[in-house]
Amino acid sequence: MNKRIYLDYNATTPVDPEVLHEMLPFFTEEFGNPSSSHSYGWVAHSAVENARKQVASILNVSHNEICFTSGATEANNLALIGFALKWREQNPNKKAHLITAKAEHSSILETFYQLEKMDFNISILPVNSYGQIELNDIENAIRPETILISFMWANNEVGSLNPIKQISEIAKKHNLIFHTDATQACGKIPIDLSHNYIDLLSFSSHKIYGPKGIGALYISQRIKDRGGLIPIINGGQHEGGMRAGTLNVPGIIGFGKACEISLKNLEQESICIRNLSSYFFQKLKTLFPNIILNGHPNDRLPGQFNIQFVGFRMEQYIHRMARIAVSSGSACSSNNIHQSSHVLEAIGLTQPQILSSIRLSIGRCTTQEELENTLIIFKETIKN
Ligand code: PMP
Repeated sequence: MNKRIYLDYNATTPVDPEVLHEMLPFFTEEFGNPSSSHSYGWVAHSAVENARKQVASILNVSHNEICFTSGATEANNLALIGFALKWREQNPNKKAHLITAKAEHSSILETFYQLEKMDFNISILPVNSYGQIELNDIENAIRPETILISFMWANNEVGSLNPIKQISEIAKKHNLIFHTDATQACGKIPIDLSHNYIDLLSFSSHKIYGPKGIGALYISQRIKDRGGLIPIINGGQHEGGMRAGTLNVPGIIGFGKACEISLKNLEQESICIRNLSSYFFQKLKTLFPNIILNGHPNDRLPGQFNIQFVGFRMEQYIHRMARIAVSSGSACSSNNIHQSSHVLEAIGLTQPQILSSIRLSIGRCTTQEELENTLIIFKETIKN
């Protein structure tokens, strides 16, 4: 009963033991630089290219369209700044406009503010009460000078899914570049880019039981045919000239294996997580009949909850329930705990509602016993 209980799989996940096993030789005996022209380099290069195929498979795209980065934050920066700068290079003296939404991750929003400082025009659209973008709002925001739209696949705080297929059709109709941050969606719901008109997609290894510090940007052949992206990290000609720096070989190998495992288990795992989730939520609702689920009731990620405990300030209870790892609705990052979540604000919650919300996510390693213990601890702790 005293073991810690991890219910924050949206923040990060443990490295799968099989993933670690694949990575280990690349720290020691196979430590070569994949750019080197000798046997050490060849071994590393061939392992990286195998991992690139495993990573591409999770999106059903070609391995040539995968560019490794240090994570989704960098992939988002590269997609937005890299495309905007390339566009400006090809269209000197012309105005350009880019669109995103208020509930996006800070790595998108802050990059948009950076683009604004670089003299690009931006629009940051509202979201509905579930945290989803409304298609009409996109249509209305598009101007003749709009070049790119960026909307996340799944929201990292409330778990709601955006209507990606319909958004991609709007992008196609207006001949816009469509970037999506799929960091929370990859490995949790099926993603098949052969059915979608998506140009750029960011994702990260540490959300799918791979190591931290590695992620990827999918850069479609269409973008490459238009001249690619301007790199934001300059140096050698790694990653097709789009991201300089010696490759993080063990990270890439781990990311590849994590993608392979996620893809293989996706269907089974999401059924299992959905079952655990509905068991947990029903029991929780019996204990606390006034709770409200933030985000969309159905169009949502399996296993993710953002719950309002109406009338309770949850921050103090989270501190008291130190054994359970969940995150507070008032915190958008743990080192900034008094700042309100911009996502909960964007969906229209009041400050008391935000302060009464917690985010909790179930993952591959969650057991029914852990959830039962969580319910007991909640029942003992959350009371007036
Ligand atoms: N986008 C979303 C939606 C995320 O949830 C995260 C991670 N919290 C990121 C981007 C950033 O990912 P990384 O940690 O790989 O930089």
